[in-house]
Amino acid sequence: MNLLIQEHVSLKSYNTLAVDVAARFFVAVQSLEQLQAALAWAQQHDRAVLLLGGGSNLVLTADLDVLVIHVQLRGIAVLSEDAEHARIEVQAGENWHDFVQWSLAQGLSGLENLSLIPGNIGAAPVQNIGAYGVELKDHLESVFCFDRDTQSTQRLSAEQCQFAYRDSLFKRESGRRVILSVIFRLPKQAILQLDYGDLRGYLAEQQIGAPTAQDVSRAVCAIRAQKLPDPAELANTGSFFKNPVVSAEHAQRLQKSYPNIVRFAQADGQVKLAAGWLIDQAGWKGVRQGDAGVHAKQALVLVNYGSATGQQVLELAGQIQADIQQRFAVELEIEPNVLGQS
Ligand SMILES: Cc1cc2nc3c(=O)[nH]c(=O)nc-3n(C[C@H](O)[C@H](O)[C@H](O)COP(=O)(O)OP(=O)(O)OC[C@H]3O[C@@H](n4cnc5c(N)ncnc54)[C@H](O)[C@@H]3O)c2cc1C
Repeated sequence: MNLLIQEHVSLKSYNTLAVDVAARFFVAVQSLEQLQAALAWAQQHDRAVLLLGGGSNLVLTADLDVLVIHVQLRGIAVLSEDAEHARIEVQAGENWHDFVQWSLAQGLSGLENLSLIPGNIGAAPVQNIGAYGVELKDHLESVFCFDRDTQSTQRLSAEQCQFAYRDSLFKRESGRRVILSVIFRLPKQAILQLDYGDLRGYLAEQQIGAPTAQDVSRAVCAIRAQKLPDPAELANTGSFFKNPVVSAEHAQRLQKSYPNIVRFAQADGQVKLAAGWLIDQAGWKGVRQGDAGVHAKQALVLVNYGSATGQQVLELAGQIQADIQQRFAVELEIEPNVLGQS
């Protein structure tokens, strides 16, 4: 098995926060066989492993004394279709947004609200990516993965993946399973989800009365481009905090002091608050400490203006968490995966 294991590789161009740390060992794998060989190499050399996709959900705080495995399996295949649905298998190394655009071009829908989310297919189930009222789990049939504990491949149904808000079995048992491919079941007749965020307003503004899935995708791309910094221009890792969920009583108390507080009732009676609103309200938007900062237009996004370290970004995040706790008695949880801390 031909496996090119490189040493001391800078990860700066492999993480969208553009943090300049190095991987002690680095290998790209394009097949299950190469993945197994890389995992065997790590075991023989007593190295921990980091699975890497597009690097858009990582905060790297120090050089990593591990084997970084860049998952590059490619391919999209239509498994079956009937009058109403198509089942599509997509390999882990495919780019997420490119796949969404591919599915729309085939006349399939369901993923339009998830347009322009950075990263690859293999990481999408890890935090059950979501945007504009749609989550990955809504259209996912199963995940094919390699279980490092049992040294065998596994197919997990959506239910077995235990998806929740920005969470899954893969995140809870981090590093145990390598996702190889995902099977989607996508409808041919679009059932659009327009009730979240600014979607309806944007479509009305553009005078699009009966939108298609493609129209919704274009709208999502336009809204995201206005609100979120493009990592290619300003390094960032998307939303830095999860939206916190609090009890109905707590939300009511907060609403008395802050009548404009952004809140979403949950099915279980709890209330989800907009982390970005809380951070903005606390005056953090646009704050800069060295090269680490809070984005000037979107308080939920922490950015790297150039040479910030992951540690500096985390320090800023820690100050925000403490302030939000003190002002609103709300705990903010960091969304991206923090790696490198001892
Ligand atoms: C500008 C911006 C906007 C964003 N907007 C959103 C959004 O709207 N909604 C949302 O949910 N997220 C959003 N994100 C976060 C991010 O895009 C998603 O979490 C995405 O799925 C990460 O994919 P990735 O390939 O970059 O993963 P990586 O950052 O490479 O990895 C993320 C995690 O998955 C693990 N992993 C990677 N590949 C595999 C694999 N094959 N098998 C098992 N584990 C693996 C990694 O070890 C790591 O723990 C945004 C990020 C940015 C920068």
